[in-house]
Amino acid sequence: MYINGQWCEAADNSRFPVSNPATGDILGDVPNGGRDDVKKAIDAAADAFKSWSKTTAYQRSQFLYRAYTLMIEKKEHLAVTMTSEQGKPLKAARNEVQYGADFLLWYAEEAKRIYGETLPAPRGDQRFIVQQHPVGVVGAVTPWNYPISMLTRKIAPALAAGCTIVLKPAESTPLCAVEMFKIFEEAGIPEGVVNLVTAEDPKPIGDEFINNPKIAKLTFTGSTNVGKMLAQGAAANMKRVSMELGGHAPFIVFEDADPEHAAKGVSLVKFLNTGQACISPNRIFVHKSIAEPFIETLENRVRRMRGGNGMEDGISIGPLVGPGAVEKVERQVNDAVEKGARLVCGGHRLLDDGLDRGHFYAPTVLADVREDMLIYREETFGPVAPVLTFESEDEVLEKANDTNYGLAAYVYTPNIGRAFRMFEGLKFGIIGINDINPTAAAAPFGGMKESGLGREGGHEGIAEYLETKLGGFSI
Ligand code: ADP
Repeated sequence: MYINGQWCEAADNSRFPVSNPATGDILGDVPNGGRDDVKKAIDAAADAFKSWSKTTAYQRSQFLYRAYTLMIEKKEHLAVTMTSEQGKPLKAARNEVQYGADFLLWYAEEAKRIYGETLPAPRGDQRFIVQQHPVGVVGAVTPWNYPISMLTRKIAPALAAGCTIVLKPAESTPLCAVEMFKIFEEAGIPEGVVNLVTAEDPKPIGDEFINNPKIAKLTFTGSTNVGKMLAQGAAANMKRVSMELGGHAPFIVFEDADPEHAAKGVSLVKFLNTGQACISPNRIFVHKSIAEPFIETLENRVRRMRGGNGMEDGISIGPLVGPGAVEKVERQVNDAVEKGARLVCGGHRLLDDGLDRGHFYAPTVLADVREDMLIYREETFGPVAPVLTFESEDEVLEKANDTNYGLAAYVYTPNIGRAFRMFEGLKFGIIGINDINPTAAAAPFGGMKESGLGREGGHEGIAEYLETKLGGFSI
């Protein structure tokens, strides 16, 4: 763990192991932090806040820029660490490291654009100015599916704003976090400004974040259930929260779209990270008239995907995070097939050639999916593409919005009017129109409804770490 600029063990000296989800091999172990450790880290961050919040935007920018440069230099090492610990194919890991580094660069620049305002005051002898101030010490909890970019997406804007931070990474991917904190150390970020607490049991850390009066803000990326629980706890103490939670993205292909192009798009985005992404398409609505060529193209592409250890060439499907994830996918697929869905391809675990040592499930396409199936309602977080058909724009819009989630949605149509109607009608925070990758460090990422609160990335991402202060001056 990294607390107050020092690498340290847990207060009780315990550690926990980290394994490779593709092979089951133990990669190493890390300190198993608890409540005392996180308290210490929060104290350090609160002390550091006094001076860090007084640094100039130009100074903070330089630290972030240095961390960005180091990340790019160490890209390969970080990518290999990520593939070993999290499982995604090496090429995807490299892309994630770049995406993660982009946040450091973007917020190195954005630090210098924390503008204020002057306002006309009601009295002639009065002046109003508005400034933005850092909220204070931030508690951050990050997930395992994007174990580097989710860190920088929180740490970069927090630091740019003048906040200090204590981070708890997911228990299955702490090694990526350790490598990132080595970079922050090497970048010379002052002691106490960034702190890392690794823990096998997240609960005591979350409890301390919620209850410790020195924490001003909680930022969380993870499941909707845990997010709701943390937001409730934070509300009791009126702490600010940002929540990036689950999704249940519709992917809509209209009759005027090219079914092969759309099928290619969905095959790329659905199986990215083995489907373990909150913006992964979870319900694929295809117009009835083009369902056949769409499914045929999708099937052809999916059958060519190879599952295996992401360190090997030609692998596009890595392991799932753990046995529970495989069971969930299996349960959803079996339920759908029992209720009448057609298994186009996949639909089983991958066990040959040593894959039984990891957590592999074959890339799967289901057709004739209906509303009474679990997969229609539940987030899958696995390599399964469930296809449904529709007949009218109104019908598909209603079905797409018929979910408690509201993170990402995708639409394929060349009709500009229809594209606008869908963009405006879909109750989701991120809409890809003929586009499968509507994300970037410069763009606001976040969801509506139970997909969360607040936005990360873009100029909105730094606002999450700032508070507005009004000054009224009599002159
Ligand atoms: P998933 O089910 O996809 O692993 P989680 O929401 O459980 O998603 O995990 C996301 C992050 O939330 C991880 O860092 C995990 O350790 C953390 N987490 C889970 N439960 C709690 C909790 N009670 N308090 C704080 N953090 C938690």
